[in-house]
Amino acid sequence: MEIRRFFVNPQDFDGENVVIYGEEFIHAVKVLRQKTGYTIIFSTGDGYDYYAEITKIDKNELTARFIKKEFAEATPAKKLTLYQGSLKGGKNDFVAQKAVELGVTRLVFFDSKNVVEKKISVERINKIAVEAMKQCGRADSIKIEFLPFEKVIESAKTENSLMFYEGECDNKLSGLQLENCEQASVIVGSEGGFDTTEVELAKNNNIKTVSLGKRILRAETASVVAVALVADKIGGLE
Ligand code: SAH
Repeated sequence: MEIRRFFVNPQDFDGENVVIYGEEFIHAVKVLRQKTGYTIIFSTGDGYDYYAEITKIDKNELTARFIKKEFAEATPAKKLTLYQGSLKGGKNDFVAQKAVELGVTRLVFFDSKNVVEKKISVERINKIAVEAMKQCGRADSIKIEFLPFEKVIESAKTENSLMFYEGECDNKLSGLQLENCEQASVIVGSEGGFDTTEVELAKNNNIKTVSLGKRILRAETASVVAVALVADKIGGLE
């Protein structure tokens, strides 16, 4: 039987027992029909799989006794940030799911001149991210944020940042050395792309603009491709 994974707050594990309540409890007991005696894996977000045996199921919570912990192999070895211009029609959800699968460790949606979707539910995207974490076996935590473009540049300028720009003709990813980097950041625009003033701001802050080729990709395609290629370059897909 497949061992199910659950995410808990670190404070709900006292070193001996873990208590699972709320939505994770409902999912565990009502949906996955977990019973006393079953082994589960819980994660506190620190990159380890905590094995535990369910010892008690009450109306609103379950208790499980800690057995052992093992480093979760799926925990990303490299730090990878995706700065994504906020997208319309549920595409932010798609991007969040794929970003988690590809090993992104920090996900920042941003508002910029050509962004149409100005409101995002960090809470909902967080849930999608946690689901994706479970699905791909990650036991770390990912931070979801929403920032204005200027703040993105402020943060990205001190990182190994690549801005994927639809108007860039020369700089290809293949020409960049990223092999020994512990960290990298990817910036992808929204459906409306980047305004030239934003591209200038990025360049003035030492952020490289990079091309994904002569075809203009949809933002969500560009996002998945850019993250996958950069993750591979820094050794994040190993
Ligand atoms: N509306 C814009 C295209 C935006 S595409 C236009 O018509 O020019 C959305 C985002 O995907 C871009 O901001 C960029 O980050 C990325 N992207 C798409 N195609 C790309 C390419 N060929 N090279 C680099 N980035 C690309």
